[in-house]
Amino acid sequence: MIQKILLGLALGAVFQPAFAQKKPVFKGQEPIQGVSTQTRPVQKQWKGIFKVGTISFRNDFEGARLNGITQVNDTLFSALITSENTPINSSPWYAFKVWSSLPQRIVLQLTYQQGSRHRYSPKVSRDGRSWQEITADTAKNPVSFSFPLQVTKDTLWVAAQELTTSRHIQDWVKKLSKQPDVKAETFARSREGRPLPLLRIGNPSSRKRIIITGRQHPPEVTGHLALKGFVETLAGPSDLAKRLRNQYLIYVMPLLNPDGVDEGHWRHNSGGVDLNRDYAEFQQPESRAVRDFLTKEIRDSGSQLVFGLDFHSTGDDIYYTVDPKLMKANRDFIPAWLNNLKSRLPGYEPNVKPLYLGGPTFTAYSYFFREYGAQSLVYEIGDQTPRPFIAEKSKVAAEELMKLLLN
Ligand SMILES: [Zn+2]
Repeated sequence: MIQKILLGLALGAVFQPAFAQKKPVFKGQEPIQGVSTQTRPVQKQWKGIFKVGTISFRNDFEGARLNGITQVNDTLFSALITSENTPINSSPWYAFKVWSSLPQRIVLQLTYQQGSRHRYSPKVSRDGRSWQEITADTAKNPVSFSFPLQVTKDTLWVAAQELTTSRHIQDWVKKLSKQPDVKAETFARSREGRPLPLLRIGNPSSRKRIIITGRQHPPEVTGHLALKGFVETLAGPSDLAKRLRNQYLIYVMPLLNPDGVDEGHWRHNSGGVDLNRDYAEFQQPESRAVRDFLTKEIRDSGSQLVFGLDFHSTGDDIYYTVDPKLMKANRDFIPAWLNNLKSRLPGYEPNVKPLYLGGPTFTAYSYFFREYGAQSLVYEIGDQTPRPFIAEKSKVAAEELMKLLLN
């Protein structure tokens, strides 16, 4: 659960969250260009406790990122945040704990490596489970970001988004696998040996199959929240879901980059590569695992990959689709789905942009389309999209998809 609060009374200004403002339609990203996906070294963080006077910071936990602390003056502390390697997408993830033997109000400045800009407005937690957002205007993406913080002897967690690591996702997978028609397994291992979890939901003897993937990019927690709500609806008790599970087999891969997630990476896997650019060359074990899994489960068994959905986070909600000109059949399927979704959510206007226009498939969703002919798209959720809306949209999107797939 996340609530909006204002911790920064000392700084005075009260900001409106970005999503409350009238804003131009989010343009999304430009068509994806190929980049090298050859393994490159990543810089591991020094892990431990950074003690500065009476105040201590620590990063020795999964998902943490804190590369250094400097005291600038009596009250101002600068937290250095650097990425696992460069060049890299400017998505500075940070997560650390802070406490003080002497209760005091400090100002914490997040200082990013050159060329990077603030993306995630800070969240705080007392237990690492329930988080509160420090209300802040991040619309301008400054090069560094300062906010006041009351520190006491009780540990305070500070993170870019609600901390959601391998352990959290594995717990969710385990819980879901207790439901009817749901089985959990590990389908492969990451470069550093972490399990890549898989859920099989539905009828194992059905030839009609669906793939749902997530967390290729470590900081994209809102994408994970959307995946979770979507999958829980497919695995849920409704008659619609039971009928879908009778007719289809759904593969869910909710954590394709566990090394990046647990090491607090900004973007890459432990091979220093953006996994969602490796679906042409397959130089990384995680993307190879997806390819090999589909070869075995779809191609070799003569099954059909009907639908593919890859969850991510970005500036605002958007769907990245395949250029309809490339589709041989059922061009209306995804537009019909998004239109039905729109009619169920008053005031919601789906933002759709074709991003795969042909050529090599650098991304997972374009690979699902080109290699298997699946109806395929990317489900992007804004970093700041209100969490109750993420949950509601996921549920409705899953319901409307089920209706179309059963038609
Ligand atoms: Zn992403």
